[in-house]
Parts: sequence; structure tokens; C-alpha cells
Amino acid sequence: MERYKENQLKVYNSLSKKKEDFKTITDGYVGMYVCGPTVYSNAHLGNVRTFMFFDVVYRYLLYLGYKVRYVRNITDAGHLENDADEGEDRISKKARLEKIEPMEVVQKYTVDFHDVLKNYNFLPPSIEPTATGHIVEQIEMIKEIIEKGFAYEVNGSVYFDVLAYNEDSHYGILSGRKVEDLIHNTRTLDGQSDKKNPQDFALWKKADERHIMRWPSPWSDGFPGWHLECSVMSTKYLGEQFDIHGGGMDLKFPHHECEIAQSQTCSGVKPVNYWMHTNMLLLNSQKMAKSTGNFILPNEILSGENDILPKPFSASVVRFFNLQANYRSILDFSGEALEASEKGHSKLMEAVRFTDKIEASATSTFDVQKWEKDCYAAMNDDFNTPVLIAHLFEAVKAINQIKEQNATLTAADLTTLKTTLNAFVFDVLGLMNEANQDNSEKINGVVALLIKLRKEARENKDWALSDQIRDELIALGIQLKDGREGTTFSIQ
Ligand SMILES: [Zn+2]
Repeated sequence: MERYKENQLKVYNSLSKKKEDFKTITDGYVGMYVCGPTVYSNAHLGNVRTFMFFDVVYRYLLYLGYKVRYVRNITDAGHLENDADEGEDRISKKARLEKIEPMEVVQKYTVDFHDVLKNYNFLPPSIEPTATGHIVEQIEMIKEIIEKGFAYEVNGSVYFDVLAYNEDSHYGILSGRKVEDLIHNTRTLDGQSDKKNPQDFALWKKADERHIMRWPSPWSDGFPGWHLECSVMSTKYLGEQFDIHGGGMDLKFPHHECEIAQSQTCSGVKPVNYWMHTNMLLLNSQKMAKSTGNFILPNEILSGENDILPKPFSASVVRFFNLQANYRSILDFSGEALEASEKGHSKLMEAVRFTDKIEASATSTFDVQKWEKDCYAAMNDDFNTPVLIAHLFEAVKAINQIKEQNATLTAADLTTLKTTLNAFVFDVLGLMNEANQDNSEKINGVVALLIKLRKEARENKDWALSDQIRDELIALGIQLKDGREGTTFSIQ
């Protein structure tokens, strides 16, 4: 029997703000859509947190035996610089600044995005559609919205009429906003805009002369509004109604609100049963921003080429660290926290490896059945990965007691323990137990030791030895950096 039949999953639904029993539209099948990246710059660590959580959702649903169609789009057109439908298209702007083709920008950062996801052991989604690959469908959806009376054309651009929609539906249902308050809080239009009301949002924008990314349409040569692509691609691949829609919480408004309005206008039904949103990521307790220097790229964590962290960390440690926090809590990323996770991660992996060496006994001193149930219960409770990890450490404790010959397991219990532990650690959480990973932890330890010896040499004014340590490490591709907080290193 499929595992999902005996595991009642509960999902926190951002729409009802409650944990609800998860019931799929079609028995045994899950349709899941997650808003993907806008590929105009390197993959952002905050986005990686979001996609990593949905990777675990995907993995657990598969583990429960569901057939999952997981759609995560690539935004390669239409995402303007701000939410008020003003400013340049982010990709066009980058192309203009770098003097390259917009599709070169798209290609460069799509490759970077996939590289990061591969390094961090993400499963690829079932479909990864692009906005530019669905211009025809987007034009069709705009026509339908105009026909139904919820959009209007002005000077070649088409806008969604929020007030008209709000007469019979609730615009703001997901983010808990009321249109009246939105009107009150929005600045009045300065006469430059074609919109009837500031809350209206673009479905199609007429391209000005310098805008390179443009397509013909019944209204003008232009490009689709950003919110439209997700309505179009989710409907096309998952149907008018599907099970899960996910994204970062910053997308709730206006992006997801606009998606609901567009989709519901066309289909007449609510498009999504469960909305799930991940919370923010901070770096050293502060908002991450390139402008302040409080910024790190996902791949820089692995290489150590950054001024934020004391040393490189493995992808599995970073995954482990991320999943030690609940997805609905703020995650504070720091070197200290990562170092603590690294210790926990290696304890866990050592215990997993040791299970192969355990010999069965006549009796069990650890209640494996209860432990197994607890692991499932944690994940069934809205994918509560920190609680799951706490249960995994109960098993680590038992394994270590067996190692010290203070505990025993029967053959059947040993098999259950090994299978369940492996399934949750590797298949569900997606952690990695590669030999080279262990080696990298050892290398980190050796370099830390050399840094300590070099410090002692310098304190003794033994410059020859201190230089020798630095130079020979450079020859091995390991760069030391002396800073106020001490010496850190990176590996090329
Ligand atoms: Zn989206």
C-alpha cells in the first residue's frame, strides 16, 4: 500500500492561515507549482532557501508514493524593476548595461541557477517552462480576460481591472488586504500612467523603442506582464485547479494575488487548494543586500571565496542547516550557526555509517517502531523538518549507545532503523554522504590546524615558517586571508 494512504499529511495553507488535512484533487496525484527565478542575476541565497524547502516537499510527496507533477518556471521576460508596472524589464536592463543580447543574460543566469541547484542536490522539477516559450498562450489569456470584461486596453497596453474583479470576488484574499485600504494607501497616479486605478496591473505592456524584448500582439508590439506567465503555465500544465502553489512570502502580494485574480476570471474556480509560503533569510541577523556588502552567493559558501564566513562549508551541511529551521520561521544565516550545524551533520553521518557495522541481538532496548512513527509524524505535520531532525538524533543517540555496547537491537528492528534512517536522511532531506564530503571536512580541520601553527609562528616572530605555511598552502590552491576576526581560507 502506498505510504500516503496511512499518513494524513497536514499543510499550513496561507489562504486559510490554518493547518489543513491535505486532500489531493485526484487520488494519488499531486500538482505543484512553485514560482521560479527571474534569470537576470546569480541565484540568490534567499531563493535557494525557498526552492530547497519545496525540494523537500517534492521529495516527501514522492516518498509517500504520490505521483507528483512539479512545475517550476523560469522568468525570462516581463519582470519589471518594481511592482507598480514601471521601470525597465530586469533582463532587458541587464542586457543593455552589459551590452549583450537579453537571451545571453537569460542563458548565463539559467546555467548559474541550475549549477547551484545541482551542487545543493536538488531534484529537477517535472517541467521547467519559460515565459518566452508561452507568449501565444499569454496573449490568448489576455483576450479571454478582456472578453469577460475584466481588462481594458489603453495606448497599446492592457491592464487588469481590479475594481471590476473585486465587485464579485475578493482581490486581496491571500494577503489579507482590502481593496479599499489599497486605494487609500496607494499614491495617486501622476498622469503619466495609462491605468484607470493605481491597483490595476499590467497584462500586456507596449514596448518603447529601446525595449529589445518584444512580440507582436493584437494591442501592440510589446511583452506580457510578469504575473500572467504563472497563471498561464500553471493552468496549462496542472489544470484550472491544482493542489499546491508555493513561493517566497514576498510573492504573496501582489504576484500571487494577481495570479488568483487572472486565473479565477478565466476559469470561474479558485485555482489553488493549498498556498504555501517560505519565510525570509537573514545574513548575520540583517537583510542581505549587495549594496551593504552583507551578501553571499550560494556557490561562494561552498568555495569559501567570500568575506562573510570563516571557511568553506559543504552543500550537505548548508542543506542540513537550512532544514534545521521551520520554513515558516525566519532563518538567520551565519558562520557560527553553520559551524554548529557542521558538527551535528557529521555526528549524524557517522551514526548512519555505523549502522552497517551493528550486529543484531536477541532483544531491543530502543523502541524503533515508535521512533519511526515519530519521524513520519514530524513530516506529516506541515513538513516540520526541525522536529524530524530532532528525532533523527534520538536514533543517533541509540546508535552511539550500541557502539559503546550499552544498547541492543533485534534483526528486524535493525533493518527498520537502517531503512528509515536512510530514507529520511538521503531521500527526504536530500543530505549527501559522499566520501569526498567527509574528506573536505577533514581538509577543513587540517587547514585550521595549519592556521593555528602559523599564528604561533608569527607570535614567535618565526616569519620563515609562517611564510612557508602560507606559500605551500597557496601552491595547493588554498588561499589564507588575514582579517580583523582572524584568518580565514578559501579553496580554489
Ligand atoms: Zn509566479
